[in-house]
Amino acid sequence: STVMAKSKYEYVKTFELEDKILPNTWIVVRLDGKNFTRFCDKHNLEKPNDRRALELMNKCATVVMEEFRDISLAFGQSDEYSFIFRKDTTLYNRRAAKILTNVNSLFASSYVFFWNMYFGNVRLMYPPTFDGRVVLYPTDLNLRDYLSWRQADVHVNNLYNTTFWMLVLRKKLSNAQAEEQLRGTLSSHKNEILFSEFNINYNNEPIMFRKGTTLIRKHVHSPPPDGKKKQVVLPFHCDLFNDTFWNEHPEILGL
Ligand code: ATP
Ligand code: ATP
Ligand code: MG
Ligand code: MG
Ligand code: MG
Ligand code: MG
Repeated sequence: STVMAKSKYEYVKTFELEDKILPNTWIVVRLDGKNFTRFCDKHNLEKPNDRRALELMNKCATVVMEEFRDISLAFGQSDEYSFIFRKDTTLYNRRAAKILTNVNSLFASSYVFFWNMYFGNVRLMYPPTFDGRVVLYPTDLNLRDYLSWRQADVHVNNLYNTTFWMLVLRKKLSNAQAEEQLRGTLSSHKNEILFSEFNINYNNEPIMFRKGTTLIRKHVHSPPPDGKKKQVVLPFHCDLFNDTFWNEHPEILGL
C-alpha cells in the first residue's frame, strides 16, 4: 500500500551509484582465476597445459553464452575468459555491475557444477574464485586489437611454459636453472631449444594450447523432419590477428 511503500528507510537507496555503460560501445567482460598457480598445484594439473582444465573453462564460457545471448564472441586461454557483448546490447539496462556480477557468478558456479564432468574422481579441494572487470572499446579496431593482445599473450606464455617444463621435466633442470637458461631469450631461441634438445616443432603442439579458444554462435539446421534452425555455440582455435577469421564470420562485428 502507499503507506508501506515509502518507508523512512527508503532514502538509503539513493546512495547507490549509477553505473550505466556508454551506449553503442563494445563491452568486454574479462574473468581471471584467482591464484590459479596455487589452484593448479593443489589439483595436480598437468604442466604446462592441462587439457581438462581448458575444456572445463570452455564449458563454463559456453554456459555463459547460452544464458546471455548478446555475447557474440568469447575468447579463453589459461585461467581467463573474455566475453564480447554486442555494441547495442540492452542487457540489464547496460548496468556494469549487474552484467559483470551475473557473468562472473554463472561462470564460477558452472566451474564447480561441471568439475566432475572433466575431472572425474579428482576431488575439488576448495571453492575456486574468479576476478572480473568490464572494459569498453569504442571502435572495431580497438576490439580486434584487444583480442589480438590476449592471443599474443597465449603465444608468449605458452612458448615460454612449453620450453620451461621441457627443461624441468625432461632435462631435469631445477625451476631456477630453467628460468636462468630462458631469461631474456627471444622466441626464435626457445623454438630452437625445443627443436634441437627435445625434437619438438612448436608449430605441431596442440592448437588449443597455442591459439586459445574462440567461441562464436552459428546457426545450424537440425536433421529432418524437424529441420528447425537453431543457434549453437561452437569452439574455434584460429588466428585472430589477420582478417581471415573476421571475413569468414562477418556477423560478429556487423549488427
Ligand atoms: P592472479 O590471482 O593474479 O590471477 P594467478 O596465479 O591466477 O594469480 P595468472 O597470471 O592468472 O596468475 O596465471 C594463471 C596460472 O594458472 C599460471 O600459472 C598458469 O600456468 C596456470 N594455469 C591456468 N590454466 C592452466 C591449465 N589449463 N593447465 C595448467 N596450468 C594452468
Ligand atoms: P532477480 O533476478 O531480479 O533478483 P528474483 O526472482 O531472484 O529475480 P528477488 O526479488 O530477488 O527476485 O526475490 C527472490 C525470490 O526468491 C522470491 O520469490 C523469494 O520468495 C524467493 N526466495 C528466496 N529465498 C527463499 C527461501 N529461503 N525460501 C523460499 N523462497 C525464497
Ligand atoms: Mg593476473
Ligand atoms: Mg589468474
Ligand atoms: Mg590468468
Ligand atoms: Mg534475486
